[in-house]
Amino acid sequence: MPIIRRFCAAIFLLAAAAGAAQAATDDTRFGACLSSLRNEAAGKGISAGTFDNLTRGLSPDLSVLEFLDYQPEFRAPIWDYLASLVDEERVTDGLAMREKWASALTDAAQRYQVDPETVIAIWGVESNYGRNFGKRPLLTSLGTLSCYGRRQAYFRGEFFSTLKILASGDIAPERLVGSWAGAFGHTQFMPSTFLRLAVDGDGDGKRDLIDSVPDALASTAHFLRRAGWRKGEPWGYEVILPASFDSSLNGRRNKRPLAYWVSQGLRRADGQPLAATEAGAGLLLPAGRHGPAFLVFANFDAIYGYNAAESYALAIALLADRLKGSKGLLSAWPTDDPGLSRQERRELQTLLAARGHPIGEIDGMIGANLRQAIEAEKKRLGLPADGRAGQKLLRLLRTAPSAKN
Ligand code: CA
Repeated sequence: MPIIRRFCAAIFLLAAAAGAAQAATDDTRFGACLSSLRNEAAGKGISAGTFDNLTRGLSPDLSVLEFLDYQPEFRAPIWDYLASLVDEERVTDGLAMREKWASALTDAAQRYQVDPETVIAIWGVESNYGRNFGKRPLLTSLGTLSCYGRRQAYFRGEFFSTLKILASGDIAPERLVGSWAGAFGHTQFMPSTFLRLAVDGDGDGKRDLIDSVPDALASTAHFLRRAGWRKGEPWGYEVILPASFDSSLNGRRNKRPLAYWVSQGLRRADGQPLAATEAGAGLLLPAGRHGPAFLVFANFDAIYGYNAAESYALAIALLADRLKGSKGLLSAWPTDDPGLSRQERRELQTLLAARGHPIGEIDGMIGANLRQAIEAEKKRLGLPADGRAGQKLLRLLRTAPSAKN
């Protein structure tokens, strides 16, 4: 064996041994952590027997830790974020779902006195109307996050909540899969939210957000009610600011009577009158002074309660408006390169795959492979070489000759 190969083999064996040692260390550490969780569980009303039955053979999945610090709604430009969430497909699908589940939806909205389109919009954004629940077993993800990473105390609470859900028999263990963080079902409740707010919408005696759409719709309606939804009030309006305006007045929480905003010269973008009432409204400027502006009321805060990001709440609000027949925003975002809908993202993936990039499934999702391909093509086409794709790149790829020609 040449010396270099022997050397490589030795390195390989060392690396393999180190890997095995690391795995053993992880297992030992996880085992010790589970023991401490088992002790803690007793004080939460979960017996040792139940704990042992439900956690037998549980091993950690360290891949969930990569997601801990990544929250797309805080990173993408607001126009990219909204372009993929509030697109024609989600409106068309939402209208079909509203019709298909009309009876359950009406029951839920009446029982909890909330807006049916907002419930549908949450369903559409959270799981694409039941198409995407996440595939990770909850106990594995939450067990891992309870023992590693920077939010262990929070995830321990969710881990115990998951054990309680399974112990109650509402959902079978093999059905309980979800996102990396443990959100699950049609409207992606966290386990603790499930215990607090899930309800039985179809009357079969179980609360099942995975296999029952009526349960998911009723539970989401219940959530909005408890988050302070006010029936008959709007979430807010798109508004036009006067030419000179002190934009430091903005902020969702910085609520002032609507009469104040009227006196400041704000008007509704759709030309309808702004009632000069005492209802409190905050001014939302998601892209600053020169992008679309919104006055938002208490119902916007109720949506925000579902997922604490203003961009998220705006996506739900705008999708709900579209489901009621609105044509969308009237002001443009301050960019010359607007974002892509999911259909356009799939077209982009197809065009990049045809240029020989390893794209994988044409699914409209922007992952690491797609970002690399986008970056490479933008460099080739003389655009800023980053991993963001907007309308400009799509237009260029539709017409530019590929590198192979
Ligand atoms: Ca049920």
